[in-house]
Amino acid sequence: MDAALELATQRTVEADDLMLLKHVDTYGYVCHGHECGIQVFPRSYRPENLQRPHFSLPKGATHEPNCDVKGEDELRSRGKKGSIAGELETSPGLSPASLRLVDTRVVVSPLATAVGGNSHSGSRSTTPGEARHKPAGRRAANSIRPICRAFLEFPYDRHLPLHIDRINTTTYQTVFKRLRGEGIKAFPQQRIFYEKLAWGVAQESEEGLLIPLDAGEWENKLLVRPYRVLVRWADWSQTARTRLRNELELARRENMAADKAKAEKKTFLFFIGAQNPNELSQFVVSDQRLICSAHGELFFPKQK
Ligand SMILES: [Zn+2]
Repeated sequence: MDAALELATQRTVEADDLMLLKHVDTYGYVCHGHECGIQVFPRSYRPENLQRPHFSLPKGATHEPNCDVKGEDELRSRGKKGSIAGELETSPGLSPASLRLVDTRVVVSPLATAVGGNSHSGSRSTTPGEARHKPAGRRAANSIRPICRAFLEFPYDRHLPLHIDRINTTTYQTVFKRLRGEGIKAFPQQRIFYEKLAWGVAQESEEGLLIPLDAGEWENKLLVRPYRVLVRWADWSQTARTRLRNELELARRENMAADKAKAEKKTFLFFIGAQNPNELSQFVVSDQRLICSAHGELFFPKQK
């Protein structure tokens, strides 16, 4: 499972976000499915783990009969072959409807404020127990990660609405923009940009972390001017930095292995960032919730 209900906050949390916590309460999570609540355990959440974090049920345990999360894996495999829009509409976590940056513990950069906008207008406080009993539906995400995963996982359902403040398009299909390798271009409109990660290692400097992408300007089959993402992480905790470094290293290895095996699945970097007007090959990201990698097959069904 990629997400679970955190008992202390009564919020659904992404397994990937566990790495940001100073202390993970092993017994603090239950299944977020409707009418379920079975205990689940966080796995592989330490920054040094080179496997993606997840939640798992105790050995031999099963979800409650009416749990809507237990069918998620089955839905995922169906979603690769055709539209499952009806199921996604009533499923809590598979296809978020919006991005809502509500966690004020994180230092919000000017860019994040511009993107996250009126974060408090939507943050209704939930009383304990309420989260588990509210009707299931497409919820808001607290980072771009589950949104990017849904973009890759449900190619036939990219017509579903997706609202992100300061992005003026409103569906999965149109909110995402691939950078591509046809030269460096200006992108005047904010989008969730994405591209395959390069094999090269990200470089650390006083400015932050510079991540090379496998696209940009080519000359004689050589990438002479790649797009790069500069992560300004001066305000980030040590844990958050370690987590991104490790995630990138894991992603780089995934891509090298995929290329060697000629596999269709690749690892992409996704981000909401500001393009540097003086160096269009560079995008700047400051908020850790606005950058992530995701591994999967990028597939576009033929238009009817
Ligand atoms: Zn369950």
